[in-house]
Amino acid sequence: MRFSILSRQDNLSNEVACKIKKRINLEYDDINPDYVVAVGGDGTILSAVHKYPNAVVFGVHTGHLGFYANYSVENIDDLVNDINTGHFHIENTNLLSCKIYDSKNNLTDAFALNEITIVTPPRTLILDVFINGEYLERFRGTGFCVSTPSGSTAYNKSLHGSVIDPQLDTIQLTEIAGINSNSYRTLSSPLVLSNRRKIKLNALMAQEVFITVDHESYTINDFESIEIGYEGKVLKMAFHEEESFLKRISRTFLISKE
Ligand code: NAP
Repeated sequence: MRFSILSRQDNLSNEVACKIKKRINLEYDDINPDYVVAVGGDGTILSAVHKYPNAVVFGVHTGHLGFYANYSVENIDDLVNDINTGHFHIENTNLLSCKIYDSKNNLTDAFALNEITIVTPPRTLILDVFINGEYLERFRGTGFCVSTPSGSTAYNKSLHGSVIDPQLDTIQLTEIAGINSNSYRTLSSPLVLSNRRKIKLNALMAQEVFITVDHESYTINDFESIEIGYEGKVLKMAFHEEESFLKRISRTFLISKE
């Protein structure tokens, strides 16, 4: 087994990463690790997942408690012991896949742990929405956020999307500033669909859009369409102890730091 470490690059995270590296008895490998330790917060975990999509991810938070990062600076002994002995819990999380096409049929593909968003902030974006090939609506507005259950507490939550229990296999389509008037009508509510559904967003005419996939972003000139769904890609996240979804929600959003 080989491991790698990724730090958020602030002083504390670098110091903690250095301590952990010295204590793990496995071969260090930055190219093809079996385990990756992400030291920082949920943002660092997103970077680790995109850099090493096939590794088991261990998240250590060095600031506030993270939604994903569940080992803390205080329980580094547990982390080191879990990795050295190979005894830890694993939670599998489905990753969203997307295929982006421009008007010349060029393809960009990517995957997301949290969400995929498509926006054109300075202009109105007009998109026809299809679910499994069936037409739903013509959307006018800033764009859409399509999220996984574990990503439902990230950007989706700020858009007043629903918080989804990760034990439910779903895909959520949430509007970003949809225009509703006598002339234009959209569903206006977050739409929670089965994970077997495929979402396709078709531009009425090719235009420049900005697509984000977790913390990564793409500018697509002459954007034509995007297809989003689950294609069997899975992330393995390690935990010292199993933690209930409600506990995770409450420590991330409800319990005061005072
Ligand atoms: P970032 O600074 O890495 O993350 C922004 C915030 O979102 C941080 O506080 C991060 O926690 C938190 N976060 C990430 N995933 C989460 C999850 N599944 N549940 C709850 N909180 C979560 O920002 P970035 O690099 O630009 O983008 C990474 C993520 O930020 C995106 O995937 C998106 O979900 C989120 N984002 C949110 C908004 C918004 O809410 N308005 C806007 C843009 C992006 P840590 O502090 O622990 O890292």
